[in-house]
Amino acid sequence: MTRVFNFSAGPAALPEPVLREAAAEMLDWHGSGMSVMEMSHRGKEFMGILAETKALLVELLQIPSNYKVLFLQGGAIGQNAIIPMNLLRGRTSADYVHTGEWSKKSIEEAQKYCTVRVAATAEASQYTHVPKQSTWDIDPNAAYVHICANETIGGVEYHWTPDTGDIPLVADMSSNFLSKPVDVSRFGLIYGGAQKNIGPAGLTLVIVRDDLIGQALPITPSVFDYRVLADNDSMINTPPTYAIYIAGLVFKWIKAQGGLAAMAELNRRKAAVLYDYLDATGFYTSPIAKEDRSLMNVPFRLPDPKLDAEFLKGAEARGMVQLKGHRVVGGMRASIYNAVPVEAVQALVAYMKEFEAARG
Ligand SMILES: *Cc1c(COP(=O)(O)O)cnc(C)c1O
Repeated sequence: MTRVFNFSAGPAALPEPVLREAAAEMLDWHGSGMSVMEMSHRGKEFMGILAETKALLVELLQIPSNYKVLFLQGGAIGQNAIIPMNLLRGRTSADYVHTGEWSKKSIEEAQKYCTVRVAATAEASQYTHVPKQSTWDIDPNAAYVHICANETIGGVEYHWTPDTGDIPLVADMSSNFLSKPVDVSRFGLIYGGAQKNIGPAGLTLVIVRDDLIGQALPITPSVFDYRVLADNDSMINTPPTYAIYIAGLVFKWIKAQGGLAAMAELNRRKAAVLYDYLDATGFYTSPIAKEDRSLMNVPFRLPDPKLDAEFLKGAEARGMVQLKGHRVVGGMRASIYNAVPVEAVQALVAYMKEFEAARG
């Protein structure tokens, strides 16, 4: 068996020890005689898995007691609709900061439910930076302010937390969730799909301050009403049981690595291997403002797009896959989530140097 260096943006690499543990427990979880996939979601085994998974997340992120942790389906894109349904609370508009493709999607979806004001946009730089808070124009009547904490496609990340005063801050953390410590108390709501840094696709996480829930629009589907979900411990219907189990194994793995501070340190070192080289080379370029560079998704370009196919072919021959950039921005993108080892980044940079020597 050979495992590749997987630079996929999502679904993405999972920690190998987690996959091994899941494989070992596939037919018989802890003597239950069943796979987790085969368990009743209301049985004591799965209820235990759910409780432990939630407790680990609370511990890792030090989630304050006035926040609810919800496990849903529908992905982050589903949340783009579910958030306004739940958080408008009688207001008619919400503010959004536009930093790229994912915030654009959030804006377009929210427009079905409310007036969307763009409080700040990175359009002037073609979405290669995060607008400084001093340039934001926040409406005091906004129901909330929405940001995308890490633009997975563009490679732009907030390395600071906006201060929106009394207006709840809502963040899409799909692609940098659990990559570093986060002060949850600064946010009204944090959400993300699992398939980047947490586990398999099919699970969506929402962490929401409890005073913000309970006023969902009457049209809100029950399975997406945060109050109903919170009151039923995310069990109003069958939750994505296997994905929750794998997320729990990933949380345990993160804890064993030393928690989120250790994860952040590792991610900084890992990203530096690639960014230091991008800064030194005259061959590859990175369009992103240095202070806003994502530690999770690193887009870069070759000097001529005609070289892209050859670069990708050589990478694949060396066991490095999924480096093609998103079609919207072109070029290459290396996604280097928690589970991608530093050896993968070192191998990529070694190959980039080799390619530069041959073609530069
Ligand atoms: C992947 C991603 C999404 C989309 O998530 P789905 O789970 O496919 O709905 C949304 N936002 C960001 C920042 C992402 O990286």
